[in-house]
Amino acid sequence: MENTKRRVTRKKTAEARFWEKVEKTDGCWNWTGTKSRGYGGFLFDGRQIGAHRFSLLLAGREIPRGLEVDHLCRNRGCVNPDHLDIVTRLENNRRRPYSSNIRDRPHCLHGHWYTDNSQYRAKTKHGGTSRQCLICALKARIVSIQKRLDLLMEEQRGFEGRQPGGDAAADRP
Ligand SMILES: [Zn+2]
Ligand SMILES: [Zn+2]
Repeated sequence: MENTKRRVTRKKTAEARFWEKVEKTDGCWNWTGTKSRGYGGFLFDGRQIGAHRFSLLLAGREIPRGLEVDHLCRNRGCVNPDHLDIVTRLENNRRRPYSSNIRDRPHCLHGHWYTDNSQYRAKTKHGGTSRQCLICALKARIVSIQKRLDLLMEEQRGFEGRQPGGDAAADRP
């Protein structure tokens, strides 16, 4: 018990140290601390680990032994958990040939493959268009619809115990 407590406190201070070194943008969260081969490094529990790995830990995602972390955004200094995928070495190597150019990539940041059905073009701020993942867009819609629905259902709970149409029915002959 005592041990767990100490670990949690240590993780907390580490968390504060971690965020001091992160520069968030709309896309990537850039690591501003020490780097090696482009990857951020972070000292945790007396050990040097990948900053992106620590970010995944903070996000509650365990990295099982033997698995690797793939940067879907191809920015090694990025620690945005949304841009990170836990994959086998085989999968990581398979994805590598597509790594150079974001436009040529056959899948979105979350690894959905682009097909004629799963992509659409959206206008950019600069007047051009860019390829977007329809699966990600639809998922985002569902999340926002679910949020609205949750709020409405929460409101409905305020009417608990009242019969729907109860008063009106009593007035009927
Ligand atoms: Zn990124
Ligand atoms: Zn997607």
